[in-house]
Amino acid sequence: MMDPRQVAAGIVGTVDWQSEVSGFCRCPGESLHTHKTGKKDCRVSVDGAPTIYCFHSSCESLVGEANRKLRCAIGQSPWEITLPGGKVLRSGDLLQSSGAVLPREVVQARAKTEGRDVGEQLILETLIANAERFKPELFAAFQWPFAQILEDSPLQVHQRDAEDQFRTWLKLWPAHCHVWIGDVYSSGRPEHKTHFRPICEWYQIGPAMGNYTCGSAFKAGSHSRSNANCDGTRFLVVESDTLAKDEMGAVFAYLNQRLHFNLHAIIDTAGKSLHGWFDAPRDKRIESRLKILLTVFGCDPKLFTYSQPVRVPGAYRDGKLQRIVWLKD
Ligand SMILES: [Zn+2]
Repeated sequence: MMDPRQVAAGIVGTVDWQSEVSGFCRCPGESLHTHKTGKKDCRVSVDGAPTIYCFHSSCESLVGEANRKLRCAIGQSPWEITLPGGKVLRSGDLLQSSGAVLPREVVQARAKTEGRDVGEQLILETLIANAERFKPELFAAFQWPFAQILEDSPLQVHQRDAEDQFRTWLKLWPAHCHVWIGDVYSSGRPEHKTHFRPICEWYQIGPAMGNYTCGSAFKAGSHSRSNANCDGTRFLVVESDTLAKDEMGAVFAYLNQRLHFNLHAIIDTAGKSLHGWFDAPRDKRIESRLKILLTVFGCDPKLFTYSQPVRVPGAYRDGKLQRIVWLKD
């Protein structure tokens, strides 16, 4: 019977296997790298949807080509690997970080429940397993500590005063947008209409009406912060309850540099964490992949609820200023 690891090695060369099914390899597009190549920048996995993944983005075309070759070659015939504990892994099954095997039949059943095609479901499940595998390397390769974020900001903003912070943040929005500012419960009843105002009005009022806002703009006349009232203009605000500021920096750098999500601003919430304001994903498929990835990294999946309240710059939290610390020019 075919051994998928031999097939993989036939395509990417020697593999430094880290588990039965995944290891580091030389990137098939290494010649195109524009930054220094580290030993752990590229990984190959043969379970689920067989995948070569590199942290560099300049090699994408060649990695894509090698990936098609890999999937095609491994997909030629069914295979089985006996794992050290005696469990058997078959083609299309996934070896999870816990050591448990996710059988391909479960992937098929989940696809049916979620209304996705099986191929996309397998890619999503593989993404979870692979993200768990490359997470330690990601935090090392994309290091962006808080102090460095302050220093790297194209515009020096972190020392600006409260009013300036707020006005600077308002400029992220197109002028016609209606934005909500309030406290978490300033929403849902007709009297809350006063918390939904166009950008030009907020310039006059300042952040006095609350500590929170949303990454989404709302339809004019809204009095409720619900997904149905969002007007389609939105940011993806990346946040985490568990990651420290320095770790969040790595997630932002990865999203911005590797995945090319446009970063507009980073906000210090005056608590333990940072929020990254990015352009929202272009479509549902990219969004569901991103959601899975960010959840594995320790981000909060509720950030994909577009009416989720987030900290607004220029307001004070227990005497500390919520402020922008990195701003795109
Ligand atoms: Zn590469």
